[in-house]
Amino acid sequence: MVFSQPTILVTGGAGYIGSHVVKVLQQQGYRVLILDNLVYGHRDVVETVLQAKLIVGDICDRKLLDRIFAIHDIKAVMHFAAYAYVGESVREPVKYYRNNVSGTVNLLEAMVAANVNKFVFSSTCATYGVPETVPISEALPQNPINPYGASKLMVERILEDFDKAYGLKSVCFRYFNAAGADPDGQLGEDHTPETHLIPLVLQTALGHRESISIFGTDYPTPDGTCVRDYIHVMDLAQAHILGLEHLLEGKNSETFNLGNGNGFSVRQVIDTAKQVTGQPINVVESDRRPGDPPILVGSHAKAKAMLGWQPQFAELKDILTHAWQWHLKRHGYAFTVATVQVASSESYQKEQILVRG
Ligand code: UDP
Repeated sequence: MVFSQPTILVTGGAGYIGSHVVKVLQQQGYRVLILDNLVYGHRDVVETVLQAKLIVGDICDRKLLDRIFAIHDIKAVMHFAAYAYVGESVREPVKYYRNNVSGTVNLLEAMVAANVNKFVFSSTCATYGVPETVPISEALPQNPINPYGASKLMVERILEDFDKAYGLKSVCFRYFNAAGADPDGQLGEDHTPETHLIPLVLQTALGHRESISIFGTDYPTPDGTCVRDYIHVMDLAQAHILGLEHLLEGKNSETFNLGNGNGFSVRQVIDTAKQVTGQPINVVESDRRPGDPPILVGSHAKAKAMLGWQPQFAELKDILTHAWQWHLKRHGYAFTVATVQVASSESYQKEQILVRG
């Protein structure tokens, strides 16, 4: 591989959004170092698809960070390593503040010590809480309603102070609902546990789940179900390249919403998934999930104006088609039953195991 561009440290590069960004960085000629503790990241994805250097370690390990910055000529850091389960953040806030806030401060301190002053940060629309108006612009007040959103907002504030005090420049991206998969079929979404609507709907279509629950059918929305702004993960990845270029050109710190600009209801997602997969999908109407705002749709006017970014896959059908192709490959027909000889304490015996095809 020929690298015409500088070296970028990508924390959390073995995860869902990080891995897609790494792929696009490599296509653009950047040399990539991935730092991932593999709690949620996937080693096989890095080794088989990305072939980037993987450092298995934690952002809370300051000695490791200092070594990485001493050995490698890193021009910028893209920071995806974070915990991102809203419900868990309510039950275990310490995990979120320790990793998402303290871990990030640790990383920023190591950057300042090593004179690395460009930082691309994964923030979230969860920092807005329950917005007063939609579409949400970056200027709306931020009042997160859970520790996950609060942890990301704290880092946004810390970044403002690091810019003033140490000249550390950052681009913060507030993501709406990341969805879809690499159209080449190499990368996709694979969380354990899975809580997100689109993968759960597709697992139901695959027959891995009996049904999908709709959390609330009495919202003040056209069909009574929650409306979200689903943004294709490859569109997110492209925005990160533009954000990085913005910083490499020596420009100022900025914050951008990254959303599709269109809202889709839970029922629309399920109906489109039925069309895309050609499979029946059993639906169960359930109670509302605590903490879910009725409508979250973002305005990406600022990213369009300043970065020249625009979503390429704004149609729900495209997002679901790419996600479905990935699910078929990774979770659908990728496993076959094989009969193999295995050793037991008694003797060799035949056993059936699942192998990845
Ligand atoms: N949702 C649902 N059933 C599920 C999972 C999610 O109805 O099994 C709804 C959820 O209430 C929200 C939307 O789907 O309105 C998107 O939820 P997701 O967890 O994917 O993302 P979030 O908006 O919480 O970031």
